[in-house]
Amino acid sequence: MNVIETRDLGKSYGQTRALHDCNLAIPGRHVVALVGPNGAGKTTLLNLTVGLVLPTDGEITVLGGRRAGSLAALDGIAFVAQNAPLYRNLSATDLIHETRNLNRRFDQRYANQRLDELAIPLKRKAGTLSGGQQAQLALTLALARRPQLLVLDEPMAALDPIARDTFMTTVMRAVAEDGVSVVLSSHVLAELERVADYLVVVSHGGIQVAGRVEELLATHLLLTGPASGSEQHAREWGVVHATCAGSQAHLLVRTENRVERVPPRWEARGVTLEELTMAYLREQRVAAVSGSASGWVEAREVTT
Ligand code: ATP
Repeated sequence: MNVIETRDLGKSYGQTRALHDCNLAIPGRHVVALVGPNGAGKTTLLNLTVGLVLPTDGEITVLGGRRAGSLAALDGIAFVAQNAPLYRNLSATDLIHETRNLNRRFDQRYANQRLDELAIPLKRKAGTLSGGQQAQLALTLALARRPQLLVLDEPMAALDPIARDTFMTTVMRAVAEDGVSVVLSSHVLAELERVADYLVVVSHGGIQVAGRVEELLATHLLLTGPASGSEQHAREWGVVHATCAGSQAHLLVRTENRVERVPPRWEARGVTLEELTMAYLREQRVAAVSGSASGWVEAREVTT
């Protein structure tokens, strides 16, 4: 079952094309990292997923074909929006009560137990809790709905490293114990590397790459060799991204693009998730290669 499936999905706000030509088929039981620079379209994609905004083009379904935003879809999705917004004047007890009344399914035992473990005061107004406690409270309320899909929009942006770690531990426990699928957007690549097993990179409203982390890592290589003449190889292989440092060129390539043998004086090695993500995040430019080695400053050929 695909937890998110889109076909030619697009969203414009007036003249602003926030998302375009988005085609995804994300299988369930993954922790999906949604990565992209500011304004790339991540929140727009997440809002479309949970039905908070409607597509301008194409379509999106969730949880095996349910229309995003439909009652059937909302029943299986929990969403924690950017900065974990809560009613500031309500206490955790009030919020549990409200959330229980608004949802068909709500596991109050889980909510109370989790907040107790985290030592979050139940009677204090949510607005007076620390940023980390607020994020944990929002996450607990979301998980107590026992969702199949948990959607988190930059959930850890305001949290210190310890609070981020505790937050992610709660998420990963839900994944391990309840089989929850998770989609989370974040700018902290190192953190995502630890938890994500599926990657979606979005830039300028378009999907740059999407797939299982294991497969992506197995199908990309970093080739290092003499800058002089590297443009020829780059054309042959179709680079995702290239840089030149002194006399050395570094080409990140997809192995589908037929790197049949590593030429003399070139070395190949696997890539890290961070290297791969960064390569796809670089500004999209068709490789504009001058004849000289120094022409290789930064270039990217569109291969996707
Ligand atoms: P960030 O990392 O900064 O949160 P993002 O990747 O989540 O960014 P979006 O919030 O999806 O990006 O925004 C994508 C584009 O759509 C941006 O140009 C943004 O200004 C625009 N946009 C988003 N929401 C609206 C809106 N309600 N009205 C007008 N433009 C919007």
